[in-house]
Amino acid sequence: MSRVHNFCAGPCLLPEEVYKQAADAIVDFQQSGLSILSISHRSTAFLAVLEEVSHLALELLGLDQQQYDVLFLQGGASTEFLRIPYNMLTTNAAYIDTGVWASKAIEQAKQFGKVEVIGSSADRQYSYIPQDIPQVNGCDYLHFTSNNTIYGTQFSAVPQSDSPIVSDMSSDVYSRVFDYDKIDVIYAGAQKNIGPAGLSVVFVRKGVLGNITRKIPNMLNYKEHIAKDGLYHTANVFAIYTTLLNLRWLRAKGGVAAIEKINNQKAEMLYHALDSLDFIHPLADKAHRSRMNVTFDFKEKEQGYLFDTLCQEANIQNIKGHRVLGGYRASLYNALPLASVEVLVAVLNRMKVKV
Ligand code: PMP
Repeated sequence: MSRVHNFCAGPCLLPEEVYKQAADAIVDFQQSGLSILSISHRSTAFLAVLEEVSHLALELLGLDQQQYDVLFLQGGASTEFLRIPYNMLTTNAAYIDTGVWASKAIEQAKQFGKVEVIGSSADRQYSYIPQDIPQVNGCDYLHFTSNNTIYGTQFSAVPQSDSPIVSDMSSDVYSRVFDYDKIDVIYAGAQKNIGPAGLSVVFVRKGVLGNITRKIPNMLNYKEHIAKDGLYHTANVFAIYTTLLNLRWLRAKGGVAAIEKINNQKAEMLYHALDSLDFIHPLADKAHRSRMNVTFDFKEKEQGYLFDTLCQEANIQNIKGHRVLGGYRASLYNALPLASVEVLVAVLNRMKVKV
């Protein structure tokens, strides 16, 4: 494979060995003579995959196997924006608005009940995490987006509430140690630290779904998926298997605590370089910076052109910012090697001489 330094925000890179194992399974899955693409989602072999991945998914987050159900669904995190209120919102829910994805979740929830936005960073283009969020109690749930992929901001702790807590952790689940067990429903599009695109993973604390009386279409009903052990319909067999390979890789690396150390090293190295360059304009407040998505821009357009050229020469790809924000974004997901960050830092330092 070519040595591209891939800073893509998602779908992002996965470990090399995962690519190889997944490729092998496409040709011949576990020496069965069958491709992973061509086995039944109800086959004994796939049921074993589903059981192992469900177990491992919880274990790596330190979640109690007896307390949570795990679902591997389809439709991405965007479908969970809808499924969450469909299944949980009867009267009122609290949301924290920290960007495009949080706003989209809010938009969907408004169709089902009263939505109170209890904190927002919209006033400064979502460049920070709102502080002094009032503790709201007695609502159906509180929703927050733990890491804001577009803006490069990240919650450092789970917000307080006596209501159930729901979090979109699409871009930082499995990247850091966190109070995962304080959260009642965690959901994520898989295409960052979990596996390939085409899945959303949802952890639902048992009992939290309550007794919603509205009629929920089966495909959107968590209880229906749970009752059918995640096989209400044909599961995304290949993406689930690749997720298993990726989570096995993470376990072999030492799990979330060990990968967090490496992730911190990568983020510190890059932020340190950016902070030392006076022609860089950071896009997120220092205190709320994400360790997964590092956003920045150059003070002059020409510096951006020079950076683009140097990136191309260094084989750095997918480092442009999201179209709503512009600038640049280096995503430092679990599988991104430290060496790729070193190459990026070297490019930035070369600019010191050239600008
Ligand atoms: N939430 C967050 C935090 C995201 O980063 C994204 C997409 N990258 C989404 C939700 C939407 O995910 P999907 O495209 O899987 O619907």
